[in-house]
Amino acid sequence: MTTDRNDIVIEAKGLVKKYGSFIAVNGVSFEVSKGEVFGLLGPNGAGKTTTMEMIEGLRKPDGGHAVVGGFDTQVALKKVKEVIGVQLQSTSLFELLKVYEIIQMYASFYPNPVPTEPLLTDMILQEKRNDRVKHLSGGQKQRLAIAIALVNDPLVLFLDEPTTGLDPQARRTLWDIVLRLKEQGKTIVLSTHYMDEAHVLCDRICLMDQGKIVALDTPENLVRSLQSDNAIEFRLPDMDLKLDHVQQEFYDKFQSIDGVKQIDLRKDTYVLYTSDLQATLLSFIALTTEEKLTFTDLQTRTSTLEDVFIHMTGRSLREE
Ligand code: ATP
Repeated sequence: MTTDRNDIVIEAKGLVKKYGSFIAVNGVSFEVSKGEVFGLLGPNGAGKTTTMEMIEGLRKPDGGHAVVGGFDTQVALKKVKEVIGVQLQSTSLFELLKVYEIIQMYASFYPNPVPTEPLLTDMILQEKRNDRVKHLSGGQKQRLAIAIALVNDPLVLFLDEPTTGLDPQARRTLWDIVLRLKEQGKTIVLSTHYMDEAHVLCDRICLMDQGKIVALDTPENLVRSLQSDNAIEFRLPDMDLKLDHVQQEFYDKFQSIDGVKQIDLRKDTYVLYTSDLQATLLSFIALTTEEKLTFTDLQTRTSTLEDVFIHMTGRSLREE
């Protein structure tokens, strides 16, 4: 990705949002380049929506500022609104209008809207063009919301948790649409708490937790930062009944296994991150046999963004 300053379409600098004494977003800064799909990934309440809405100009920051397409949201909000497209939540669509009517209604708000028919085709809604919004499935409503967000051919498209609540097939369809927009060079900022979604769709990912950025890089570099390609996960169900010093003893023993770079322990589940899966597995079996340790739920897998998040925060992306 180029770092040419002329290619920067979003600048977020030190964004802060407070609700009373609670700091929902605490000094968030990043830049997004033209043509980039930029992901805000974090668990519920991490501050993703608040960050996006400050950039969209929908929420006023208590600190810092955001510039979109060269326009500061606090100085030139009208200009910002002209260059962005924001996916509205499906509940805010007009349920009684037909699909093509609603797109045409939004198109009428702009001087140079994109034609309705190709938009319907791109969003795989051509067969639903005469259906009322209230009869659409969740996935179809989300695709309609994206169609509406694209109606002014925006410089930046914002998608806030676009696949939350969708079934796996509808999610895949939506991924394909985002990937096609990416191919066409559209700049997209999307928030999600699904790490697989962020990995598949995003050029760079801003990992957020408790209002702050914990890491920002390409998905590949984030996973590489663990310095271990594979994870071996298992449970020692009896372990949490034992004393801390016993747990520490095994922790130290696992740490000394061949290839192990780091260990995460959450309740009774251990994750050994390794640079040499085969050597680690063999040593693990030898150690647990020797120590007469009964493990369950053993699985090996490649390291993921979830592992990066756990390693950095001590918590899972999936935790509420
Ligand atoms: P989610 O996936 O649940 O939407 P998120 O990462 O988008 O999570 P935000 O919606 O930005 O998180 O919320 C960040 C924090 O700010 C949360 O703790 C939320 O409860 C709080 N918050 C958001 N909006 C308000 C508000 N209007 N008043 C008070 N607290 C708020």
